[in-house]
Amino acid sequence: MTETATIANALASELSLEELWMPFTANRAFKRAPRLLASASGMYYTTVDGRRVLDGTAGLWCVNAGHCREPIVRAVQEAAATLDFAPGFQLGHPYSFILAERVAEMLPGDLDHVFFVNSGSEAVDSALKIAMAYFQSKGETQRVRFVGRLRGYHGVGFGGISVGGIEPNRRAYMAQLLPQVDHLPHTHDLARNAFSRGQPAHGAELADDLERIIRERGAETIAAVIVEPMAGSTGVLVPPKGYLKRLRELCDKHGILLIFDEVITGFGRLGAPFAADYFDVVPDLMTVAKGLTNAAVPMGAVFVRHGVYDTVVNSAPAGIELFHGYTYSGHPLAAAAGLATLDVYESEGLFERAASLAPYWEDALHSLRGVTHVVDIRNLGLVGGIELEPRAGAPGARGFEVFVDCFNRGVLARVTGDIIALSPPLIIDKRQIDELIGTIGAAIKAIA
Ligand code: PLP
Repeated sequence: MTETATIANALASELSLEELWMPFTANRAFKRAPRLLASASGMYYTTVDGRRVLDGTAGLWCVNAGHCREPIVRAVQEAAATLDFAPGFQLGHPYSFILAERVAEMLPGDLDHVFFVNSGSEAVDSALKIAMAYFQSKGETQRVRFVGRLRGYHGVGFGGISVGGIEPNRRAYMAQLLPQVDHLPHTHDLARNAFSRGQPAHGAELADDLERIIRERGAETIAAVIVEPMAGSTGVLVPPKGYLKRLRELCDKHGILLIFDEVITGFGRLGAPFAADYFDVVPDLMTVAKGLTNAAVPMGAVFVRHGVYDTVVNSAPAGIELFHGYTYSGHPLAAAAGLATLDVYESEGLFERAASLAPYWEDALHSLRGVTHVVDIRNLGLVGGIELEPRAGAPGARGFEVFVDCFNRGVLARVTGDIIALSPPLIIDKRQIDELIGTIGAAIKAIA
């Protein structure tokens, strides 16, 4: 056991687990059988009892450069000792401007402005507000509606759950969700697309459902369509070939803004800087978080096309143009982490590495075809989804048991219901891919 793990283990044995209300967790079950992590380095976590766990999910799709990377750690330490905080309202500090400039250089098309926030949820709510502000500035004040997609995940703010399409996240709050929202159908189609490698062949026509919504509501009432270019949290739903281009064309035709929620796909996950690059479809607004700082310090952002920024900022009377922002927008520690993270991505060529590993990753994943209970396998870049047949009368039980079994065998996977989702740090090597997929295969076989 490492020294850190020993200390953490000693601490853990004295913990009361009761007071902490854990997010998106079955609190009672967890507290009966906790899984506690003590430290992390590179591709591995170490648990409080000293076991190494291979990280198959980059934490929560966010630690793209691997854990506790020295340049990022150092940058955050230095920032903490130099400028712990600077107000971002009517004041600034160089790091957030430098980070915005660096990121803007990476963006496709004329996306060239950056609004900083602290999380993916905040990025989504901010993007929705920016879309509304844009149309108000243009005098199209009736454009207030949003269109999301079923099985979309856009975080947990009221805006995000309104445009999102996950039933349990919405149920308790249904009475107070944003009122003017419609949803496109999701694109998951096991009957036609099971075991697709990369983008599935069928389903581009599902984008045309936007025409139905437009007929019903009137294009002149719709501000924006928001989708994840590849849905991650609801189980790795890869967009069918042609789907996103079709959505872009329809938005252009009707003057509707297209928002890509790239909180998961941003920063190399698909083997390109952004999904927008991968699919060659440029949105009007893009939301990111997670990989922006390698998750070392929380940070998110909204990327905005030139014309949108220009319309909102330059058409406003003198004074504050957008009444929106967070105390920690562009926090110095986050900005420092972001800059160091971009350096690591660039100097190690991690996005290119993801692209070059993708075929090996695809073959490894699809080697599980034929294993009992596996009804679909899908992949794109360094993302994988393995869908299991739900156990009769107990949806999600099989998936969760596989997750626990993997953890006990030394692999961190992630499950959404009965779908195992994988998204390792981009520094993974072939041997670790074999270990990851081999362990998951063994766990699936072991769970009845
Ligand atoms: N949007 C997408 C596509 C996400 O996957 C997530 C989180 O996984 C979010 C938004 C919310 O991000 P956060 O948990 O940082 O608020």
